[in-house]
Amino acid sequence: MKVTEHLESADGPLISFEIIPPRRGGDLESLLRLIEDLAVHRPPFIDITSHAGEIVFQETAGGFQRKIKRKRPGTLGVCALLQNKFNIDAVPHVLCEGFTREETEDFLIELNYLGIDNVMALRGDPVGYQKPLDHGRSVNRYASDLVRQASDMNLGIYLEDLVGAAPTDFCIGVAGYPEKHLEAPNRATDIARLRAKVESGADYIVTQMFFDNRAYFEFVDDCRAAGIDIPIIPGIKILSSKRQLQSIPRTFHCDIPLELSESVTEAEDDHVQDIGVAWAVEQTRELIDRGVPSVHFYVMHSATQVGRVIREVGVDDVGRA
Ligand code: FAD
Repeated sequence: MKVTEHLESADGPLISFEIIPPRRGGDLESLLRLIEDLAVHRPPFIDITSHAGEIVFQETAGGFQRKIKRKRPGTLGVCALLQNKFNIDAVPHVLCEGFTREETEDFLIELNYLGIDNVMALRGDPVGYQKPLDHGRSVNRYASDLVRQASDMNLGIYLEDLVGAAPTDFCIGVAGYPEKHLEAPNRATDIARLRAKVESGADYIVTQMFFDNRAYFEFVDDCRAAGIDIPIIPGIKILSSKRQLQSIPRTFHCDIPLELSESVTEAEDDHVQDIGVAWAVEQTRELIDRGVPSVHFYVMHSATQVGRVIREVGVDDVGRA
């Protein structure tokens, strides 16, 4: 079922999760346990991240060798597992970065044959290489290009002119940034580019994590004023360690409010998770009170904290038709 259909048929706010595939060669057992723990909350859909290859330099007898390594393959396999073993709709993340348009088309065909109805279209972060444009190969530069490719396939338009090609029927999600994407010169331009993704065929937006709900509410107001009228699902990250006071702003370019950062700094290490949970409970409660369509939790490895938040807010099973 499509994410938008889940949102339309819900009679209250929904809860969804985002997980990452194991590292290359990692075992599936811990991921299976994580999904089992998350499945208890009956999420209508779960997102699975995608990871572009990265350039690494390895020292060898013959000097340094440049290699491209994809640390976390497995997005497709985890999607199949979610859909077929757990009966939960999978939302695979699909990237521009590191993939040619031909590879993306192949991936979308695989997803379609697996009965996956949703894709999250993202640019990805530049990892130092891009596939060459020669040999007739091409790349999607921005997420809006990727959205266009997926929505073209929904019309039966493939890269090659295929007579009688079967149209796909993907529901397409895209990313939005309450605190602006780091590369955008300003918020208005960033929102205009978000509108371009919607005009290319996006059906819903999931936001980057934020720790101050005002950022989300203002973002939604600005999007609506700019004519963006599709659902905007807030993304929530539960703080779990002191180290994240540096790593989250560095990686995700979002602010951690003074009140939260001070209480984490002053806390004993083993109390930090409780602070993260309490903060996320307040955020989630307010978002739900203000009528958000769904709350999307960035989970990564453990369901413990998110389980506590869901139970404290009392949103287990809310919204399921
Ligand atoms: P875009 O929408 O293409 O925007 C990227 C930048 O380009 C923005 O600054 C935008 O303003 C600018 N821009 C857009 N169009 C134009 C144009 N025509 N001309 C000039 N500038 C333009 N990364 C991963 O690698 N894997 C994941 O699985 C993943 N999942 C994510 C899930 C969510 C919900 C979010 C919010 C982010 C995720 N990311 C993931 C991170 C994301 O790939 C990065 O934030 C990336 O830098 C931007 O991706 P985007 O899709 O927003 O790009």
